[in-house]
Amino acid sequence: MSLQEPEHIAVSKSKGIDIDWKDGLQSHFSLAYLRDNCPCAVCTGSHGTPPQKTDYQNPNPFQMFKPALKMLACEGVGNYAVKIEWNDGHSSGIFSFEYLRKLAMEGTSTVAGS
Ligand SMILES: [Zn+2]
Repeated sequence: MSLQEPEHIAVSKSKGIDIDWKDGLQSHFSLAYLRDNCPCAVCTGSHGTPPQKTDYQNPNPFQMFKPALKMLACEGVGNYAVKIEWNDGHSSGIFSFEYLRKLAMEGTSTVAGS
């Protein structure tokens, strides 16, 4: 049995994902944070292609007309992950709870700008 599993998950398509872990830790992942940390092969470049990292947390002030990030859909994958579909056309990111827990423990899951 692992304590590093979600006890409760609350998904808000406008705010992000909140997870209460079984060991009592509470994590909030903002939309921008999740998108910027998408673990898929395209975003991380793990297929040998250049990583296509996004930077929604630190928007470029010179880049106009960039639509606000939104979550179109969030569905569970088995009982180990969630898959998120974004309004920028990206939907291949699968966030395992193990990965989210790792992000949470890095202490960077707070709101951007801190
Ligand atoms: Zn991705």
